Amino acid sequence: MATPDTIRVRFAPSPTGYLHTGGARTALFNWLWAKQSGGQFILRIEDTDELRSTEESTRKILDGLRWLGLDWDEGPDADPARFGESIGDCGPYFQSKRAERHLELVKQLLAEGQAFYCPATAEEMTDADGKKKNLSPYRDLSPEEQQARLAAAGGQLPIRFKCPLGKEVAWDDVVRGRVSFKSDEIGDFIFVKSNGLPLYNFAVTCDDADMRITHVLRGEDHISNTPKQIMLYRALGLTPPLFGHAPLIVGMDGARLSKRHGATQVGAYREMGILPEAMVNFLLLIGWAPKDNKELFTRQEMLDYFNPADINKAAGAFNPEKLHHFNGLYIRSLAPAELLARLKPFMPAEWLEFRGEEYAGRVVALYQEKLTFLNEIEGNAWYFFRDPQETDYNEATVAKFLTSNDEAGPILGDLFAEFSALSEDEWDEQHLAPPVDALCERLGLGKGKVMQPWRVALTGDKISPGFFDLLVVLGRETVLGRVKPWINRLN
Ligand code: GLU
Repeated sequence: MATPDTIRVRFAPSPTGYLHTGGARTALFNWLWAKQSGGQFILRIEDTDELRSTEESTRKILDGLRWLGLDWDEGPDADPARFGESIGDCGPYFQSKRAERHLELVKQLLAEGQAFYCPATAEEMTDADGKKKNLSPYRDLSPEEQQARLAAAGGQLPIRFKCPLGKEVAWDDVVRGRVSFKSDEIGDFIFVKSNGLPLYNFAVTCDDADMRITHVLRGEDHISNTPKQIMLYRALGLTPPLFGHAPLIVGMDGARLSKRHGATQVGAYREMGILPEAMVNFLLLIGWAPKDNKELFTRQEMLDYFNPADINKAAGAFNPEKLHHFNGLYIRSLAPAELLARLKPFMPAEWLEFRGEEYAGRVVALYQEKLTFLNEIEGNAWYFFRDPQETDYNEATVAKFLTSNDEAGPILGDLFAEFSALSEDEWDEQHLAPPVDALCERLGLGKGKVMQPWRVALTGDKISPGFFDLLVVLGRETVLGRVKPWINRLN
């Protein structure tokens, strides 16, 4: 089949939960494919399962895609304030709103004898040794007999597709190469439920065709649906799109990704402070790898490199450690203003008001090399925004470095005298370091031994950013103010 000029791909989530990592990866692959070829990425919400589909879930999916930067050319309006409206000329993009069109095509297949009302019971569809039959014993009922049966069933009968027999149903899968099924094995499948609602395989075929989708790239779990859809395309007199099936995502133990491997929802990663660019980079490499094994990609590089033909057939592993590693790297690469902007949602509002944004920016800069997740900032940097209280101090740490440390008194007292002699303008490493060196020499102690009592007194913790960074950013008044009570306590 020739490749159409304009690529139109789609992501078609069912809004019955969150945006999952598998869905997000499918969306990303499709997005890249569209954008790198000047094509269109279409978003369609498959909300025909009335019981399980919710507006909340739809909003979460739209929000997750926006967060990942996977903007769509056509689909539900991306502005949450205009929820339910459409952008694009193939709408509506909510499948439930396309029912009229689905019914029109159902009627077409019934009228042409390519589908039939089927009164077969479960027993009638099961053979003597308990196996499900592929073909319905009613596949050749005349239209009149079907109507009579339908009336007898109170107007409630499922509609089956009348499967053409002895045919090969095959496609050249973008990922897997030639895939082939025998039509008889697929059989007369139900595509409209007895309540008149079309099922997934039919609705998706109608909508993909009406939305002029040229390439369907989705998860491998849909492979068994594809021959049904191809048969429906043919029956409807339509040309099927090209199909590709991306491999499953598995955990590091090789089992299908599930909650016991950690969060499977994209939103959970956002909440723990994964950057969207790290998430996207990570998703890109699940089941796809460039030939040169490059790992870190800007968005432009993804567009340059990604080739759907390079998607692996074998399952892709979800390695959380890799995601965390990527996140650290992406945090390190943020420009200072951007670092603060990304951290803001994870910082208490009063932090920004405490000494203004410039101060908050200086504080977070001290953590840029250390953070793995953005949400670690609050537990780490709090002592830059309030004085530690009694309850913040760890008893064992205080004993070890202060109250049971014979040298703590002179270490705090002597340096306090030296530091107090410095003016605000002199409060920098250049002036703070020499007294520390001198004291080390005088007491015959390493720097750590001298710095730790100060660090614990100032922060309640034995770990903090570099000693002089801590002193300088906290500022003269705060440093002296926090240490003074400890000197009194130790003497
Ligand atoms: N609504 C289907 C799903 O979420 C779409 C499958 C497809 O891409 O055709 O699995």
